[in-house]
Amino acid sequence: MVDSLNRHYEPVDSGVTPRFAGHSTFMRLPVIDDPRAVDIALVGVPWDGGTTNRPGPRHAPRQVREMSSLIRRAHGVTKVQPYELCRIADLGDAPVNPIDLNRSMQGIQSFFETIVAAGATPLAVGGDHLCSLPILRAIAARAPVGLVHFDAHSDTVDTYFGDLKYTHGTPFRRAIEEGLVDPKRVVQLGIRGSTYSPDERDWPLAQGIRMITIEEFEDLGVDATIAETRRVVGDGPTYVTFDVDSMDPAFAPGTGTPEFAGFTSREVNRLLRGLRGLNLVGGDVVEVSPPFDPAGGTALVGANVMFELLCLLAEAVSTRKRARR
Ligand code: MN
Ligand code: MN
Repeated sequence: MVDSLNRHYEPVDSGVTPRFAGHSTFMRLPVIDDPRAVDIALVGVPWDGGTTNRPGPRHAPRQVREMSSLIRRAHGVTKVQPYELCRIADLGDAPVNPIDLNRSMQGIQSFFETIVAAGATPLAVGGDHLCSLPILRAIAARAPVGLVHFDAHSDTVDTYFGDLKYTHGTPFRRAIEEGLVDPKRVVQLGIRGSTYSPDERDWPLAQGIRMITIEEFEDLGVDATIAETRRVVGDGPTYVTFDVDSMDPAFAPGTGTPEFAGFTSREVNRLLRGLRGLNLVGGDVVEVSPPFDPAGGTALVGANVMFELLCLLAEAVSTRKRARR
């Protein structure tokens, strides 16, 4: 029993089983049921019930699993080898109901509560951005976390279609209202595009969120943006949420709400690698929409961002484990 819980899982050896063969899982890792057997749980959330316009991210976990077969074992720049540092596996998909928002939100939250209770750190692939709210309810049940939020949109609108409070345009307003994230430790990166009204961005700013629009990013540059992000979130527990529409539609067209003039793939790589050493407690990649992604390029973005986050989390988790010893 102890042996099985201490085992480090390995991706399928591509020198034996080629990348196009075998089961499709995140990073070609085994699928397991017991979250006690991992330090980091890779989880799909195949649900897009919060989408207000063009749906599709419910199909992303499968497509990102497929494209993640292209990802190798070691990080090319940082040389991090996550599977040496931590026990990591594919924990499958959170239970969802495609036509019942409340049951889906509850099912997702319960699934992540089980992971957190087992002492594992979750890394999720959504799903639309509303998926982050039940995940945060599980992770931040005891104390609010900081947030590094990549997105074209602030996702802090109050309501849609009258009085609807739960859509993929509202999760971080709810998370702040519920005390799940500390607005003074939130950085939003890549915000841009047209708004519903000129004051749409006033509410997040009034809460103390540090919003770095794509225009300010252009002026600051990558290194100063990283320094500012690290200053704001500090040493406290921090969650990273990556909406693929933070990127320019040239690089990630397969998403429901594309916005003109976003990050390049290279900028995203540098920004993510600039988060090394932060006290990261979880992350997600959301809004990849396979129906708008016929060549799979946006799912490939999702798989690569997932690996960048996995390497960051593996370092953070192993640092915390060493400190406990
Ligand atoms: Mn979003
Ligand atoms: Mn967005």
